[in-house]
Amino acid sequence: GNADLDCDVLVLGGGPGGYSAAFRAADLGLKVILVERYTTLGGVCLNVGCIPSKALLHVAAVMDEVSHLGDLGVEFGKPVVNIDKLRGHKEKVIGKLTGGLAAMAKMRKVTIVRGYGNFVGPNHLEVEETTGSGQEKTGSKKVVAFKNAIIAAGSQAVHLPFMPKDPRVVDSTGALALKDVPKRMLILGGGIIGLEMGTVYSTLGARLDVVEMLDGLMQGADRDLVKIWQKMNAPRFDNIMLKTKTVAAEATPEGIKVSFAPAEEGVKVPEPQTYDLVLQAVGRTPNGKKLSAEKAGVAVTDRGFINVDIQMRTNVPHIFAIGDIVGQPMLAHKAVHEAHVAAEVIAGELQGNKELAAAAFNARVIPSVAYTDPEVAWVGLTEDQAKAQGIKVKKGLFPWTASGRAIANGRDEGVTKLLFDDSPEAHGHGKILGGGMVGTHAGDMIGEIALAIEMGADAVDIGKTIHPHPTLGESIGMAAEIAHGSCTDVP
Ligand code: FAD
Repeated sequence: GNADLDCDVLVLGGGPGGYSAAFRAADLGLKVILVERYTTLGGVCLNVGCIPSKALLHVAAVMDEVSHLGDLGVEFGKPVVNIDKLRGHKEKVIGKLTGGLAAMAKMRKVTIVRGYGNFVGPNHLEVEETTGSGQEKTGSKKVVAFKNAIIAAGSQAVHLPFMPKDPRVVDSTGALALKDVPKRMLILGGGIIGLEMGTVYSTLGARLDVVEMLDGLMQGADRDLVKIWQKMNAPRFDNIMLKTKTVAAEATPEGIKVSFAPAEEGVKVPEPQTYDLVLQAVGRTPNGKKLSAEKAGVAVTDRGFINVDIQMRTNVPHIFAIGDIVGQPMLAHKAVHEAHVAAEVIAGELQGNKELAAAAFNARVIPSVAYTDPEVAWVGLTEDQAKAQGIKVKKGLFPWTASGRAIANGRDEGVTKLLFDDSPEAHGHGKILGGGMVGTHAGDMIGEIALAIEMGADAVDIGKTIHPHPTLGESIGMAAEIAHGSCTDVP
């Protein structure tokens, strides 16, 4: 027909969702075209999200650790930060990973079409070529015909309408650009992204304020964990403003002057404050409204999300959607798992493989991690959620003050907390429903709790599993033993 290119599967967007879908589909023998407007693959996660933030957080964590070594008997001098070199390190990390993706795409014969995609029909996408940063369109257009499509167009940072356009007002992408270190920084939004970036800037020398509408930082995490995080991080902040809204902002020669208002009656808020840098981290909005999805018949919600079933299928049976664009939690590991489901369903249907065609996203839980210092990681039900849902739970809370390894590390502030079903039907052998940890390396250990939930483990299963000594991971076994009431001694 009138198409320049054709394929079995068109993937729109080259982030963790998009490249994972494209690679799995190609591995399953399908002809795949991947459309991405930017030069590099990897999407938000590799270019301006998970990876660059962790490259900087690692350096910040080492700096903080070293600054405490004096108490353990080893003194270092005051750190000298070369911000250009630090930025260069971050860029190199991104380059290695995005370069790796390009090589993997080539190896799998995934065709990458560089440009901005818009649907022009139920089986056609028009791609307008882009150059440079990915925003400039060259005017040259191509039409791709597809049998199936996977929409993986992701999300972008929400910008408050009253924020002035000013280089001193940034979103996470601007903060990761790491131009310089401000003296006073305001973080709008007390979620993971804001607190991670705040950690980096504060270790590099900035004083922080944070403003959050709700009644606590890191919503979604267990309050017992957040309490410890907040105590450890209090020295970074001049002011933690909870139940407070930002209502106006003005660019002045001295800085960005921000006004606050109570989000609830009776809350005291400070006078307007002036900051050298304001980070907007108030959430992310899906890109669903920017794809002319209606031309393909794909329904998009008012907020820009695309609804899908457990096979990641939209209302149009041959068009799928995955990742941030289909809803919360907006996390890379969720996008990757959804991507594999969509690719497998499509391959199964095209090739008549019933088992593959029956693939579905049925993860019980999706873990979350704040890669701050200490880290906070959680998965499944929290104690507050259990209470709200009327589920009776037995908890096992293991303080790291009883962990030999944590003490040896000089970092025994952590806690591991597990929740088990304690409803009468469980007869005292309730399965694990959720868990979390605050402490160093918590993010690297949360996978074990996720596995326990997926496997339907109970406290005995986890407690009797031999964990190596002395490790921080032992704390998971100990928390299970405490929940089961069989904890006799602690190392
Ligand atoms: P995206 O990564 O958003 O990719 C979408 C891609 O589609 C983009 O490359 C975009 O250019 C392209 N695109 C969109 N529309 C079009 C179009 N019309 N034509 C062509 N191309 C288009 N998650 C974690 O799990 N762990 C973390 O530690 C973590 N840290 C984060 C830190 C920050 C600062 C941020 C902002 C996010 C972080 N996230 C983290 C979230 C994670 O980045 C996202 O969940 C993930 O990138 C979503 O993947 P995706 O494939 O759905 O979309």
